[in-house]
Amino acid sequence: MQIGLVTYKSEKVEGYDLHVYYSKSADGQAFPAAKDMQNDVTVFCDAKAIREDPSLVAMSNMGPALRKNKRSNLAFDFVCPTHPDYKTKTLNYIENLSKENIMGVTLNLYHFPDQDYCVCPRCVELWKQSGLNWTQWRAQTVTQFLREAKAKVKGIFAVEIYPDPVLAKERYGLDLEAIAGLVDYFHVPLSSRDYLTNYWTIMLARDFAASLKKPVIVELSAEMPTDEKLEALLKTVAYVSRHKVDAVLLLVHDSENARQVCRFAVQNRDLRDWLEKYDFGEMSRIVDGWAKLY
Ligand SMILES: [Zn+2]
Repeated sequence: MQIGLVTYKSEKVEGYDLHVYYSKSADGQAFPAAKDMQNDVTVFCDAKAIREDPSLVAMSNMGPALRKNKRSNLAFDFVCPTHPDYKTKTLNYIENLSKENIMGVTLNLYHFPDQDYCVCPRCVELWKQSGLNWTQWRAQTVTQFLREAKAKVKGIFAVEIYPDPVLAKERYGLDLEAIAGLVDYFHVPLSSRDYLTNYWTIMLARDFAASLKKPVIVELSAEMPTDEKLEALLKTVAYVSRHKVDAVLLLVHDSENARQVCRFAVQNRDLRDWLEKYDFGEMSRIVDGWAKLY
């Protein structure tokens, strides 16, 4: 198993095999390409674009797909996935990234906000014209967008997925079978403020590793200020490493945060003994590698 980072800084950190850089984030900020890294693009969540043009927002019968609309439990503000100008702008951004010397592109939030979106007049018209049922049309819309995006990308093409192994198609339009045909791997974020309770993390990692038809990479949050939380995180990575997961990515604030995780593991004799005692060979190998650097 490889260990990697998801980061907001376009710099690599020693001790990590994979580097994923957020080149465009859900607040709408878009940055130049990070060279030699996997560039992660937030597609249809763009708070800035919606502020500038409120007509972009995805709609349901319970109102717009905005965080402030508490009838829906949304973490981001979502653009309608069929808005032609916004789609073109985003595809151009992806194409420009791919002109640089990058490793590849990962897309995130490139789908519908939830089951009851989007009922804007354009989407309803497109749905009726398609002759498909609601679930089929939404899935086809998302898959078709991914096909167009993939055509713009040189190098590795990957997607993040909303970590719902059962209702992904009905809720978000994620046809995981069809998407498997387009991507090099799936990036599954299992974000949390801490992993003191971790059974759900290992369960979802196993479910996706067993059901997806392409390699699976799991992302865990590592913006941990306390020793207790860091230890729980590293033990969770160890349990995930027992399963058919190609890599674990740690989401960090910055490079120093990434180095802090390494130093904590290297200096924690109890943790390293625990990994040895319970046969977490892959995780011990990773920490031994860090010990040569930190
Ligand atoms: Zn719409």
